[in-house]
Amino acid sequence: MATSSIPYWWEAAPPAALPQVAVKRKCDVVIVGAGYTGLSAGLTLARAGRDVQIFDRQRPGEGASSRNGGIASGNLRPSYRQMVRRFGEVRATALQAEAKLAREDLADFIGREAIDCEFQIAGRFSGAATASAYEGLAREADMLRKNLAIDAYAVPRGEQRRVLGTDFYHGGMVRNDIGGLHPAKLHRGMLQAAQKAGATVHGETAVLGFRAKDAGFEIETARGMVQADHVIVGTNGYTDGVDPWLRRRLVPVRSRIIVTAPLSNNLMAELMPKRVMCSETRKLHYYYRPSPDGTRIVFGGRDGTIAGEPAWPTDNLRRALTDIFPVLDGVDITHSWFGNVAMNRDMVPRIFSRHGMRYAAGYCGSGVVWARWAGQKAAWQVLGDARGQSALDFRPPAAVPLFNGKAWFLPVVFAWLTLQDRLNHPRRPRRQAGAP
Ligand SMILES: Cc1cc2nc3c(=O)[nH]c(=O)nc-3n(C[C@H](O)[C@H](O)[C@H](O)COP(=O)(O)OP(=O)(O)OC[C@H]3O[C@@H](n4cnc5c(N)ncnc54)[C@H](O)[C@@H]3O)c2cc1C
Repeated sequence: MATSSIPYWWEAAPPAALPQVAVKRKCDVVIVGAGYTGLSAGLTLARAGRDVQIFDRQRPGEGASSRNGGIASGNLRPSYRQMVRRFGEVRATALQAEAKLAREDLADFIGREAIDCEFQIAGRFSGAATASAYEGLAREADMLRKNLAIDAYAVPRGEQRRVLGTDFYHGGMVRNDIGGLHPAKLHRGMLQAAQKAGATVHGETAVLGFRAKDAGFEIETARGMVQADHVIVGTNGYTDGVDPWLRRRLVPVRSRIIVTAPLSNNLMAELMPKRVMCSETRKLHYYYRPSPDGTRIVFGGRDGTIAGEPAWPTDNLRRALTDIFPVLDGVDITHSWFGNVAMNRDMVPRIFSRHGMRYAAGYCGSGVVWARWAGQKAAWQVLGDARGQSALDFRPPAAVPLFNGKAWFLPVVFAWLTLQDRLNHPRRPRRQAGAP
């Protein structure tokens, strides 16, 4: 069976080619990017009565917001201890508390707006790649329970199969505050809500430049100039040369997802008995989940390339999938696609301002929760609303040395991290062709 490079999610909710309406020459706020960040900001501002235009150079959603795994984790990549070291205890605690609020707020939002995106708080299992990683996860579960009242617990290796049908990990941790959704349906719901609230969304209309004026900004778009009092940039992993300053701060990293052909009910019950979202502690970790209808496994991880669409990243993911679930050796992969996530140097999502422009970006692969939250916060800041305060709002991410948009160093970084993972967690031998 041929593998499609179109995201699986687009079968139910493809990105819409919006009818082109006239670009208004003046408005209150211009937003660059119509993913979760831009739409969330636009919705908040339009509901507050502001005249908003949102521009996307692609079809809205065609960036990461309709390509992702749909795991609503609100993850912070650094551990609590690392954050304390980097930012101090007060900010580290505030970041963790805000992650919890952001997760809860997404659930409220989906309910309030009646967005049909198959959202379910199913819980998440994190698999330990080593015995010491298991100890770390057990400590984290304790911390989540004590500090944040999150229902979390360690799962020893002997009990792992009750949660996930594999012996691959050295046990793991379950936390019950994380859910899964259909990412493209969430995006579609947000687009409709923003438009209904009065925001004008211009698809396939790039922003080509901006310039501060005495009061406000002059924005050059592919369909003419616009004057606006405020600009919010929500371009994240798709940031282009229009903002070289931002581009030096966000490294676009390709992430790839493969989807299996439908599996039998019995097999799904064996492999994913609790239907939880999954992640793991390997340095180059994989993330996976059942499809919302419970028939397939949606499996994501690094793509490892920076250009073209070679076949090997798909084979690599297929192999990683069968390392975890050997029974899936030879299973058909119906879909395989990639998208960009935006990493920054300290791996903490951010809201920041420069020369009066507001930015929300750097979700490090966890934007389902963070992008909507940060977009809303950025909008409140524009409105001068106290709810715009956020632990994400501090110095802009630092520039990445020797980087100006082309992540030439990633193959080397991936090779180094892969080696470390292999040393900790050797792969099972490949099945020889013709072997029983
Ligand atoms: C394969 C993959 C799997 C992922 N899995 C998960 C997951 O399971 N859970 C999770 O929480 N997160 C996940 N993410 C991350 C998540 O999808 C993103 O963090 C989130 O979608 C970011 O939303 P955004 O609106 O900031 O950016 P995007 O949705 O990427 O939107 C940015 C938009 O800006 C537009 N743009 C750029 N430059 C210009 C310009 N000059 N003019 C006009 N428009 C411009 C682009 O066209 C793009 O549409 C994943 C990402 C990928 C790629």
